[in-house]
Amino acid sequence: MTKVRTRFPPSPTGYLHIGSARTALFNYLFARQNGGEFVLRIEDTDRERSTEEAVQVIMDSMEWMGLDYDEGPIFQTQRFDRYREVVNQLLDAGHAYRCYCTPEELTAMRETAMAKKEKPRYNGYWRDRSDTPPEGIDPVIRFKNPTSGAVVIEDAVKGPITVENSELDDLVILRSDGTPTYNLCVVVDDMDMEITHVIRGDDHVNNTPRQINIFNALGAKLPVFAHLPMILGEDGKRMSKRHGAVSVMQYAEDGYLRDALLNHLVRLGWSHGDQEVFSQDEMIKLFSLDNVNKSGAVFDVKKLDWLNQQYLQSASAETLAEGLSEHLIKAGVDTTGGPEVAVVADLLRDRAKTLAEMAKGAMPFYQAPAEYDEKAVKKQFSADAGTRLQAVHDNLAKLDEFTPEAIDACLQSTVTELDVGFGKVGLPLRVAVTGNTASPALDQTLSIMGREAVLQRLVAAVQYCQSL
Ligand code: GLU
Repeated sequence: MTKVRTRFPPSPTGYLHIGSARTALFNYLFARQNGGEFVLRIEDTDRERSTEEAVQVIMDSMEWMGLDYDEGPIFQTQRFDRYREVVNQLLDAGHAYRCYCTPEELTAMRETAMAKKEKPRYNGYWRDRSDTPPEGIDPVIRFKNPTSGAVVIEDAVKGPITVENSELDDLVILRSDGTPTYNLCVVVDDMDMEITHVIRGDDHVNNTPRQINIFNALGAKLPVFAHLPMILGEDGKRMSKRHGAVSVMQYAEDGYLRDALLNHLVRLGWSHGDQEVFSQDEMIKLFSLDNVNKSGAVFDVKKLDWLNQQYLQSASAETLAEGLSEHLIKAGVDTTGGPEVAVVADLLRDRAKTLAEMAKGAMPFYQAPAEYDEKAVKKQFSADAGTRLQAVHDNLAKLDEFTPEAIDACLQSTVTELDVGFGKVGLPLRVAVTGNTASPALDQTLSIMGREAVLQRLVAAVQYCQSL
């Protein structure tokens, strides 16, 4: 049996779009499931729009998502000789021809067709002409598309799609400057790289009949085509920046775990019953082109947030600590000398939607509050609160051990001693150590922060209260 080979061929013209990431994932899963190979190809023939930074972004995104490829990156710009060789082969075999039409002639052709209410297309003027070519014109090379019959795409997702050859014109495969065009390069690559399955967005479905005709002219075996439904925003329109982040690395920066993003992506257009959470192994085992939907898939940010929370809750301590550390470093927080990041992460994992949010919650464990939240100060800080905080300080200072249990007992007895409700102590205490009123359980928070940091912050808060 032929080995399954899939490919992911992004064009390096900006960030890696979330839709492309889904395409990459499906190709990766399909290859892995079938013990096949997954090829990364960089389609950089558009030299004006392709940049090295964008290539790097693709590589970084693939690495972050953990989508390992078996071959590549293969750059199309390094294969120009091969494309020209195939163009010559097509010329020699009579499947292609030189076209000397000037831009003015092409415009006139389009206008005539439009006046006749026909599709604006090339009319095949140079297709079978043996005239002496005009002087001073560098010709383009066009593919001789069959003029009759139809192409049937046996699409693994959409089912058979029939396109009449009369709908297609003779497309340019080599520009007059000698550079090959997209449809030619893709076919040559897919043929040379022995790609068995072309899984891509359905924005390419119009190219497929043209590509099939070129495959046939080259006598190459056709791959299976599978066109994936578009990714839509919540308003049903094509997913764009208006709907939220569209770049993969933005999700990394915003603190989503890669497993959550992959899980979200796999569900965009694919389902397995009503299961929502999939480990990578499950994805590889269960993925199937048969269960890819034909219609658009909605990117629901709330669902991604929910998934991210699930993964934050179930992630291993190391994964969490690693992710949190990165986000703390980015936020300029130095964790040396502070509590172990894994311990802080574990405390915060139930409360945060993203690692970025978790990093915010983690800051007080490494830095005294630079300022107190204004509203919290108004409600909780006063000269009287200063006296209560002083009592807390003195009692905490006397503890033998700074465990959550000891802290809890100490706070309870301080409340009794002061003859106030718990809130009168707990709330200003929270503000004193974290700067605001939201934090996980106080006993654990204080214990992890450590006695020295807590006492220092209490001294500062008492002073602040006295100055009011
Ligand atoms: N380079 C094309 C793109 O980024 C992909 C073409 C293909 O999958 O055949 O849309």
